[in-house]
Amino acid sequence: MEPLDKLRARLADNGLDSVIVSDLNTIGWLTGFTGTFARVVVSPSSARFITDSRYTIQAGEEVSGIDIVSFASPTDGDEFTAEQARDLGVSKAGFESASVTYSQWQSWSTKMEGIELVPLKDLSDLRLVKSPAEVAKLRKACGLADAAFSHIQRLVQPGVTELDIALDLEFFIRRQGAEIAFPSIVVSGERSARPHGKPSEKKLEVGDFVTFDFGARVEGYNSDITRTVVVGEASDRHREVYGAVLKAQLAALDAIKPGVAARDVDKVARDILGEYDLAKYFGHGLGHGLGRVVHDGGRLSPSSSDMIEVGQIWTVEPGTYIPGFGGVRIEDDVVVTEDGIEILTHSTKELLVLPSR
Ligand code: ZN
Ligand code: ZN
Repeated sequence: MEPLDKLRARLADNGLDSVIVSDLNTIGWLTGFTGTFARVVVSPSSARFITDSRYTIQAGEEVSGIDIVSFASPTDGDEFTAEQARDLGVSKAGFESASVTYSQWQSWSTKMEGIELVPLKDLSDLRLVKSPAEVAKLRKACGLADAAFSHIQRLVQPGVTELDIALDLEFFIRRQGAEIAFPSIVVSGERSARPHGKPSEKKLEVGDFVTFDFGARVEGYNSDITRTVVVGEASDRHREVYGAVLKAQLAALDAIKPGVAARDVDKVARDILGEYDLAKYFGHGLGHGLGRVVHDGGRLSPSSSDMIEVGQIWTVEPGTYIPGFGGVRIEDDVVVTEDGIEILTHSTKELLVLPSR
């Protein structure tokens, strides 16, 4: 199903005659628009794309199959949107309650007289299953992340700072014409026990775990990969912890199939870490949906009610974070196929000890 049709099915489910879409992530997914202001009014038989004069030309290039209208100062955007909605015969419209602020809602409530506004839960679940065209973009984003990981390995040596590596990583990705999916994580030594630590001036030392978590955004779609390496020399403890996380990750990848509950996939990884007495150091969910948004709809976690379906994209990223020692996380991006998955990130998962001799 095309995005507009998926959204229209949601209308029928909720007894609405339209949705006024304002979340830019939903709008990007529906229309391909990449600007910073738009509204899309969607009814069962028509749709209208509303933007302001800064984006009239851009919308003409990016948006197809939907009527585009734009307004210019001093016209009020909310009044203009209300007029367009009335013109489409809207009387009961859903809106995205998670992204509409209270002041936005107040303004709409005043200006959209005669239109009942109904809060809808987040629409990100509509984006869970990707089209082949979306998967192709994710594949490119993953390929670039792999290339970036190869590129920075030469910098993994004692004396280089986390910050230097993070900058080199991001420069490489941007130099290829892509964007950074999110601020890169490069953490070493005891700092690698911070799952979302920021790169610092700390220099790499022999015996450090170093965790890299980063991604590239290509044509609006994000990759998200994590690898952990050791500087100089790996101890038995390094190998034991790394081996357990890798075993958990491989088993979880193996468990992803259409029809399986997302929380059961999480459990596979959590149980294996438990066998090594490491589950207590795994404080986050196993993975998340990925697409136009890095933490897109869907969770692989103990509390998830999602089911695995063909065409979904998931990250699979078990971790173990031991205070005072360090942490390991291994993250791949996968697309669900008829009989399992295809892994889109291909960087090696053997424990790399760098610099290699
Ligand atoms: Zn990540
Ligand atoms: Zn992730």
